[in-house]
Amino acid sequence: MTLSPRPGILEVAPYIGGEASLPGIERAARLASNENPLGTSPRAIAAFSALRDDLHRYPDGTAAPLRAAIAKAEGLDPARIVCGAGSDELIAFLVHGYAGPGDEVLHSAHGFLMYPIAAKIMGATPVAAPERDMTADVEAMLARVTARTRVVFLANPNNPTGSLLSAERVQALRDGLPGDVLLVIDAAYAEYVEDADYSAGAGMVEAGDNVVMTRTFSKIHGLASLRLGWAYCPPAVADVLNRLRGPFNVTQAAQAAGIAAIADSGHVARSRQHNAKWRAWLSERLSAAGLHPYPSAGNFILVEFPGKPETGAQAALAHLKTQGILVRAMAGYGLPKCLRISIGTEDETRAAAAALTAFMAGAGGAS
Ligand SMILES: *Cc1c(COP(=O)(O)O)cnc(C)c1O
Repeated sequence: MTLSPRPGILEVAPYIGGEASLPGIERAARLASNENPLGTSPRAIAAFSALRDDLHRYPDGTAAPLRAAIAKAEGLDPARIVCGAGSDELIAFLVHGYAGPGDEVLHSAHGFLMYPIAAKIMGATPVAAPERDMTADVEAMLARVTARTRVVFLANPNNPTGSLLSAERVQALRDGLPGDVLLVIDAAYAEYVEDADYSAGAGMVEAGDNVVMTRTFSKIHGLASLRLGWAYCPPAVADVLNRLRGPFNVTQAAQAAGIAAIADSGHVARSRQHNAKWRAWLSERLSAAGLHPYPSAGNFILVEFPGKPETGAQAALAHLKTQGILVRAMAGYGLPKCLRISIGTEDETRAAAAALTAFMAGAGGAS
């Protein structure tokens, strides 16, 4: 008899995060993980620092003050909010709560990788619906719903493509789903969206009992290190998540920093403005260099290279590294001709554009 894990676990390809360092380079430009280039709100840093003498205390297991702060900032009902150690944890709990062996978890072809990973961990079957123009296709998703479908994930905006669905399109997806299927709208990048016809999904959550919206403090709030996310849920789903989560799943430091961060609307506004400005600038520079940047509603740009992956995206990734710039390879997302570049500081964004312009002109060996 040999020890073996539950079926499916060994089929999970572990999630590989963006690279964070380069040998021999003191401060690489880290444009691989969609972090906030302006950093964390100084108020959140102060709240975090104030906790250093209380590390022997357990956190508030209900996260009530944090949920109240989120509810106030977003105009929501605190009782429907469940906090997690990053929204990744909540994504896992939602699959855990609603899907298992024999069940299907549906997502769009270039959706966030944590969806199929979470499905496989629970022994459920991930199903990928084809996209159109690198954008989730509502009709194609609905066509893949079967009697076994339990959870549907939609990242809106989507990572890594940057694509966006209007509120009307998301409503069409919701309306087309059977009542016993859970729709999870992952709005990790909601704060960056400029489009007037967008909605993160809170209204849809409140209008029924089978839609959940997840959000994160890792992106615009600049708290990726502390692991903090939240879900806005129908009461019955909140109840399920509260049973599944560990009693102290969110650290006190994350709670305190989160309360300060979400109240710092100035930092959020500056971060959004910086992103909108440099996202447009970088997109324009990439086009001028002969590349194909996809439209993005997030804090990153997916860019496609001409030719083969080896002489295009892969070679460009290597060239960027020689310049001290880290971006994300996309082969794991089935997009080997593409790279994903996070919007960095002004200097980092200019350096990335210059390096790619030189690469395309042949200086990087692209010929
Ligand atoms: C970054 C990201 C998340 C979440 O991250 P956490 O750090 O776990 O909160 C969730 N969904 C998408 C689409 C993301 O890009």
